[in-house]
Amino acid sequence: MTDNSSSAAGTLAGNNFLRDLIQKQIESGQHQGDVVTRFPPEPNGYLHIGHAKSICTNFGLARHFNGRCNLRFDDTNPEKESHEYIESIKSDVKWLGFEWDGDIHYASDYFETLYEYALHLIENGDAYVCDLSAEEAREYRGTLTEPGKNSPHRERSPEENLDLFRRMRAGEFEDGSRVLRAKIDMASPNMNLRDPIIYRIRRAHHHQTGDAWCIYPIYDFTHGQSDALEGITHSICTLEFEDHRPLYNWFLEHLPVPAKPVQYEFGRLNLNYTVTSKRKLKQLVDENKVDGWDDPRMPTISGIRRRGYTPASIRKFCEMVGVGRTDGIVDMGMLEAAIREDLEPNAARAMAVLDPIKLVITNYPEEQVEELSAPGHPEREDIPTRTLPFTREIYIERDDFRESANKKYKRLVIGKKVRLRNAYVVVAESCVKDDDDNITEVHVRYEPETLGADPADGVKPKGVIHWVSASHCKRATVRLYDRLFSVEAPGRGDGDFLENLNPESLTVLKNVPIEPSLAAASAEQSFQFERTGFFVADRYEHSDESPVFNRTVALRSSWNG
Ligand code: ATP
Ligand code: MG
Repeated sequence: MTDNSSSAAGTLAGNNFLRDLIQKQIESGQHQGDVVTRFPPEPNGYLHIGHAKSICTNFGLARHFNGRCNLRFDDTNPEKESHEYIESIKSDVKWLGFEWDGDIHYASDYFETLYEYALHLIENGDAYVCDLSAEEAREYRGTLTEPGKNSPHRERSPEENLDLFRRMRAGEFEDGSRVLRAKIDMASPNMNLRDPIIYRIRRAHHHQTGDAWCIYPIYDFTHGQSDALEGITHSICTLEFEDHRPLYNWFLEHLPVPAKPVQYEFGRLNLNYTVTSKRKLKQLVDENKVDGWDDPRMPTISGIRRRGYTPASIRKFCEMVGVGRTDGIVDMGMLEAAIREDLEPNAARAMAVLDPIKLVITNYPEEQVEELSAPGHPEREDIPTRTLPFTREIYIERDDFRESANKKYKRLVIGKKVRLRNAYVVVAESCVKDDDDNITEVHVRYEPETLGADPADGVKPKGVIHWVSASHCKRATVRLYDRLFSVEAPGRGDGDFLENLNPESLTVLKNVPIEPSLAAASAEQSFQFERTGFFVADRYEHSDESPVFNRTVALRSSWNG
């Protein structure tokens, strides 16, 4: 599934097989009552764009069918989890525009019930305490082509198992010395059914339950039962859990659960030129390859937020991608198309000169300052007009001037005219160079009668360029981003994904001349800087004394050539 139509962002909406399926269930009377879904992250990292798809799918289906969606933290690995991750996940979900039903849930809320469920399995001869070492257990497990062998402890009596399991809980045994396993089938072709571990001993402090437990349920024993306890009707997850479904169903059949949710799997979202694995993203952060989880180059929700993406653009992107039954790699160009589509009609226009060269208007009085007015947006009257100070010395982009050029070049050339955006027509006369032949100044004359109108002589200028007053500008730090990895599939095969990092993914420009009104931008406000892209005032670092802007996206796609 590669993006084949980023230009069709406005019309393209991917298929959503889950929405169709639930619709059919309702129509055929197979499903009565509420549609209840949940988004179940493990709080072991920040959420990324793939999670955004899961969030939009789960909350989106609940919204579509007037149902409910829970936010539940599947917190079964205390060592890897933290409050920081919990807070970031809550804030990302809210920012995306979704509201979870009622209070937040934690799988750890159910630890006592899960423990009771484990006792239930033991009493029925469906679980046993096993003392094999990890290495032995691996040998006994068999392979994809060979069946496993029964553990020597598999035939322990329910009484002995109950006693041992209670003592596991009471802290009588060393970490890792014993586990509780479901007694299913060591010869099953599905490895997940070969007497999977359901509890292990681990003396770890838990962010929710503190030191109350020294045994913790395995994710696979927790997830499905938590869904059942919450009355989830549609347990939606990604395809890699398809093979776990028989195990989840086995638990539901063998336990006194209040409901039997049905699991449906959909394809993961992957983006080219980046990674969507919490483990790899954490590695980028831990090894200081990026500036934290919310570095604007990161595919995390907090990173793309800081980059200037809007919640609407991400929801739009997820809608375009659709929900299908296969994993796919989506072109980054599609994400960019979604944000352009959102910002084009909404972002105020402004001017900034990223690579400045001085332009001297030789016939403009030295001390004169004119306050020109410019529309905030070409089509939106509700976006306020700005005031642009116009002075004898201004800045233009270095590549908007050439001493000579052919007709295709629509910018400033000696002897030719160009319009300064929202201001006058100027005609270039000469330029000044330093000893190394670099142009340092361009000298022009302006045509006073051309403000906001065609030139009196009827000769239309070929092009329009942007500019900022040299004496009345403010200065900003502007950050430009390129793809974080220089190859489409970082670390493909056995490669180390870190070796594919693009060393030029960040360019920081200092003292960039910006029109004065921009300094007053509020944090996270988006703009189109004329001709150079969409930019956002940095969420944390921007202030009117020291403005900081991040480029969200260029005006045109750079992904597909
Ligand atoms: P891990 O379990 O390896 O830490 P994870 O990315 O699966 O990583 P979870 O916190 O378990 O993280 O994910 C929460 C939910 O988001 C799960 O239901 C998962 O299936 C879904 N999800 C995770 N990554 C993607 C993705 N790339 N595309 C779509 N859904 C995803
Ligand atoms: Mg997971």
